Amino acid sequence: MTSPLRYLSTRGAQAPLPFQDAVLCGLADDGGLLVPETLPDARPYLDDWKGLSYADLAFAVMRLFAPDFPAHRLRALLSDAYASFEGDDPAPVRPLEGDLWLLELFHGPTLAFKDFALQVLGRLFAEILSARGEKLNIVAATSGDTGSAAICGVRGQERVGIFVMHPHGRVSPLQERQMTSVLDGNVFNIALEGSFDDCQNLMKKLFGDLPFKREYRLGAVNSVNWARIASQIVYYFYAAFRVMEETGKDEVQFAVPTGNFGDILAGWYAKRMGLPVRRLVLATNENDILARFFHTGRYVKGEVVRSLSPSMDIQVASNFERWLFERLGRDPLATAAAFETFAATGEYVLPGAVKGAIDREIVAAACDRQRTLATIAKHYRAQGILLDPHTAAGVFAAKQYDTGSTPTICLATAHPAKFPAAIREALGEDVPEAHHPVLDALADAPTRMAVLPNDCETVRAFVAEHAK
Ligand SMILES: *Cc1c(COP(=O)(O)O)cnc(C)c1O
Repeated sequence: MTSPLRYLSTRGAQAPLPFQDAVLCGLADDGGLLVPETLPDARPYLDDWKGLSYADLAFAVMRLFAPDFPAHRLRALLSDAYASFEGDDPAPVRPLEGDLWLLELFHGPTLAFKDFALQVLGRLFAEILSARGEKLNIVAATSGDTGSAAICGVRGQERVGIFVMHPHGRVSPLQERQMTSVLDGNVFNIALEGSFDDCQNLMKKLFGDLPFKREYRLGAVNSVNWARIASQIVYYFYAAFRVMEETGKDEVQFAVPTGNFGDILAGWYAKRMGLPVRRLVLATNENDILARFFHTGRYVKGEVVRSLSPSMDIQVASNFERWLFERLGRDPLATAAAFETFAATGEYVLPGAVKGAIDREIVAAACDRQRTLATIAKHYRAQGILLDPHTAAGVFAAKQYDTGSTPTICLATAHPAKFPAAIREALGEDVPEAHHPVLDALADAPTRMAVLPNDCETVRAFVAEHAK
């Protein structure tokens, strides 16, 4: 019997943690990200997993990552999490055109793929905290989808408080209402008088204040939290099984719209676990630091520009650290040095990188505004399928690497109704598919938020006053 799986920091200066502690801890204390000590091998299970329902497959995959979590509780929690999704199948796969397929990940309560992980994470927090008799205060910064999915995952919980900062007046009105119409007593929306970067800086300051972090038990819900990655690995298996069965092929590709590198990283781990994935196609918008890296081996920070796909408007992708750690042979000193160099100079060059041949598993393409609009219009007119702007970037990228023999599964990460302005711009008209009753119902909903100045002391005092 080998010892149960534990989690290591990519920077090497934190003692290995069991799963439950890794979930509560979020980011490692040495500033690194937590990764499993060894990655489970899924190959012996592939045949058994093929016919499982989504919740059963989630249990089969997640228990490999959470050996210290009571199995019957994990099973119950996952069934409950995916019962909150609309329809019988939380992750339907459907043909798009040729050998391109769409994996619809937007049938959760907030209509974006983030529900897959945050419905699970919220329930994991509740279970772990109640078993330990502890409380947790989540502090998060959001430019849109993360905030509403995280709030929805923990609303009403007794042992969890959640503080979500968004830039005042700079998220879409729909996204703002999705967050601020949740009136549960443990939910605090902070509209910060500043930019998204100001929100993130403030969050980092609060987490960097270790006495404050300990006193108020601060926790993280962004994709640095390993439980989010583990939850997302599941749908790669699920979709690959469906498409391999439909096509009779024995391998697939995935195309993934990417911001923080979390979602695509889950697919990369699925491949490493033994899922037959030929390669992953990484899609970005104009904020293309990752696409540039996978072409040149140079990770060079640029200015964030506003695009049609705001959840991908990111220049520094936190989960890239997990990938680089593996690429550098799991060397924590080399990983720490790489991110120190990047923090100091805004640039990091992968040693030995050959331009055009950076990685065999991940290829990349950037999709600009015009191509996003054209892709939305084309598929709406040709197939009657309405893509949201993030998904459109993924579909565009998939087409740059269409092999004609390996089916490609494009991750549809959000419901188009979340981005009505982009849809209207693409189609020149409003269409019924750009609406969803959940969003329409928000129009007259009462809302609550606190508008605070961009000042660390004020936000700290606000959190302290309302913390659990
Ligand atoms: C968060 C998000 C993404 C990017 O996912 P990452 O895990 O940050 O790479 C893509 N599309 C939508 C709709 C999102 O909400």
